[in-house]
This record gives sequence, C-alpha cells and structure tokens, in this order.
Amino acid sequence: MNKAHLWHPFTQMKDYNGSDPLIIERGEGIMLYDVQGRAYYDGFSSVWLNVHGHNVPELNRAITEQLGRVAHSTLLGMANVPAIELAAKLAEIAPQGLTKVFFSDSGATGVEIALKMAFQYWHNRGRSGKTSFITMKDAYHGDTIGAVSVGAIPLYHEIFRPMLFPAHIVPYPLTYRHPGGPAGAMESTLAALRTLLETRADEIAALIVEPIVQGASGIIVMPPGCLSRIASLCRKYGVLLIADEVATGFGRTGAMFACDLESVSPDLMVVGKGLTGGYLPVAATLATGEVFDAFYADYEERRTFFHGHSFTGNPLGCAVALASLRLMEERGMVEGVRAKADLVARKLAPLAEYPHVGDVRQQGLMVGIELVRDKATHEPYDWEQRIGVLVSLRARELGMLTRPLGNVVVFIPPLASTEAELGAMTDILAAAIRDVTEGGWRS
Ligand SMILES: *Cc1c(COP(=O)(O)O)cnc(C)c1O
Repeated sequence: MNKAHLWHPFTQMKDYNGSDPLIIERGEGIMLYDVQGRAYYDGFSSVWLNVHGHNVPELNRAITEQLGRVAHSTLLGMANVPAIELAAKLAEIAPQGLTKVFFSDSGATGVEIALKMAFQYWHNRGRSGKTSFITMKDAYHGDTIGAVSVGAIPLYHEIFRPMLFPAHIVPYPLTYRHPGGPAGAMESTLAALRTLLETRADEIAALIVEPIVQGASGIIVMPPGCLSRIASLCRKYGVLLIADEVATGFGRTGAMFACDLESVSPDLMVVGKGLTGGYLPVAATLATGEVFDAFYADYEERRTFFHGHSFTGNPLGCAVALASLRLMEERGMVEGVRAKADLVARKLAPLAEYPHVGDVRQQGLMVGIELVRDKATHEPYDWEQRIGVLVSLRARELGMLTRPLGNVVVFIPPLASTEAELGAMTDILAAAIRDVTEGGWRS
C-alpha cells in the first residue's frame, strides 16, 4: 500500500520502492517510533523543524483549545485572535524595525512574498527600474518558482532555468574550500558584492541571504562580521536586505534569530520551519514600517499588495506558534542552545581527526560534517557513491534519523534535546561515519 500512491518529495521513487520503507507512527519527546515499534532519535528535527520534541502536552493543548473555537477563518480583509497575538509577538522578538507581519504557509511562500514586496516597494516609490535580485552561490530558498529563481544549487535548480527570472549571484563565504581561509572567503564575497552594487544598484531591488548559516548547500557558516558588512553594503547602495531565517530562526543558531548574532536589522525577514515548534505549516514575512508605508495609500493609488493564500494566518497554526514561543521563553531555550552547542562541539571534536572527515561546521545546534575522499587535498567523494546517504542509513540502523546534503552529514537535533540525548546522538553519528568511511559498511 505504502508504495502504491504516495510520491515523496526530493526522493527518487525507484530507490524508494527498492528499499525497506520507514513508516513513522508516533513520536514522544525527541524519539520517533515506526509502525514496527522501533525507536529512533530525531537527529534532524524532522527536516529542521522540531523545537520542543514530539507530542508535547502544552502544544497539543494549544491546538485542541483553539480547535474548540475555530479551525480556520480568513485574514483577507478580516482578522482572527491568534493571528493578531502572534503578529504582535513576532514584532516584539524580531530584530529592530520589523514591525509588520504577513502570514503564509511555508518557507517558500514566505520568500515569494518577500521578493514581491521588495519589487513592488520600489515600484510604489517611483523607482520602477529596480527590478532584479542578488542571491548567493548555492543558496536555497524553497521550491516555488520565485524561490527557485533566487536559488543557486545546480542539482535542484538548473533544469528549471528557462522558467525562472535571472538573478545576480555573489559567492557565499565558503571557508573550507577558499585558499585564503575565512578572511579570504569573506573578502571575495564582499568584493564581488561591492563591484555589483557600484555598477548595478539602480536596477537591483534586494539581496536575499541565508544569514550566518547557508543550510541546504551543506551547513556553511559565515566568518564573523561578514553578515553585518553585507548589510551595510546593501544600506549604502540603497538595496533592500531580505534575511531568509526559515532554517536559522527561533533559537537554532544560539540566538533568537541569526541576524541577532551581528545585530543586523534587515528590511524583510522570512520565518517558517521552527515557528510553530515544527507542528503546523505557518510561515511569516516580516517587514519594516518603511516598507509597509510604501503600500499604505488611498485604494485608487493602486499600491495594495495583491497577494494571499487560502490558509494565511491559520488560527490553529498561530495558536501553536504562540504556545511554542511561550515555552521557549519559560524554559530559557535560546540560552540553553548555547550550552548544548558547547557540549556538541566537545563531543564532535575528535571527529576532526578521522581520515575522511574534511570539515566539521557548527553554529548553535546546526551541524554539518563534510566527508572527503582525500583529507589533504579536500578531494570530494564521487556523488554516485552517495556517501552521505550510506552514513544516514547506518545511523538509522543504530537508532537515529538524519538526512544528508550530498557528502555532508547533517545533525540538527530538536532544541529540547537533553545533554544525555545529545551525547547518545553524537555517539551514533561518530560510529556511523567510522563504519562507512573506515569499516566498509554498505547497506
Ligand atoms: C526549508 C527552507 C526554505 C523553504 O521552506 P519550506 O517550508 O520547505 O517551503 C526556505 N529557505 C530556507 C533557508 C530553508 O532552509
């Protein structure tokens, strides 16, 4: 039955149909249980979403209480109580200046909204020549056409090129593969950006960036100071800054938002994934008062933002998001992430000596371990070998779920993971990497 009808995302169905399928039945804390009753640590937060674990009484209660009132009612021209309260809460915790909140239902739709807002912002201000966007090499912003247009991962995005609008691409500071190290990588990025802005700023609406950590490209961590310098260049040349915090938001990096790590206040910010604690599909695009004001006019002036989704501001989703943010505050989770991140760093330190571990990258509870064929030359494994997939399969056998990014093994545990759980998970991670790269383990 499982293989008859379901078409899985980012999955070659021929492989899937040839494999022993994993079917999850329930979750408890940071454990997931399959239909055979086997237990697994959720070592990737169910694709980077989960904050407090699964089946959390406080979050369940927030949903059932709201369900007893109303499951859904639209935000088109009217409001609902949880959406109002969540917008106020987001404005309170967001970087300075982001006071307006536009809801949608996934990270990709939140990105579409940010792009369209930036575009129309300049149009409404009489600067209709500012129509293009800057993105960064290997960026990932979701899978809808606008988000793919500012995406730059060849394997996912190249095939769709004829359907997309073009974007300028500047390098993300990739320290591991840059001959100049962190300083050189940062200089290459800033020099490319400066040159582009000097010559083309009049045509450019906005730059979109995954702040501090570029996720889907392999958990690439920016050298300190880079984000704030990108932000000042945008400011100087009159280009809006869009921070895509879909992966990094809500404590994941050790600050509430990655932008907070360098006191950056973007013009637009997109959040999703962890917003509801990973429970329900809610995303939001936050804007400054200045962006909002460019749309605020008499109807006849045609400045309205004509965009929306059926489930925009869904009350169940907003209610659980509020409960999740309340729990984060009560439990001091953002501070907790910093202590847990130190523990993970200590546990993973020995991996740097493994013969096929090229680079261990970490920011908060976001970890990427890049495996290489040759440690001295950084020569990668052939993609056909699917070394990351093998390590994930071995980890699953040892009782932990994760999903690789090419040759990068990913470890993104729920923020609520205890020290004991983090210890057990990092042990599995280390064993799986050893078994595959040194022990010849094959599925
Ligand atoms: C996951 C992700 C998205 C897309 O979010 P969806 O909810 O999957 O549409 C966008 N940007 C970043 C940085 C992400 O990690």
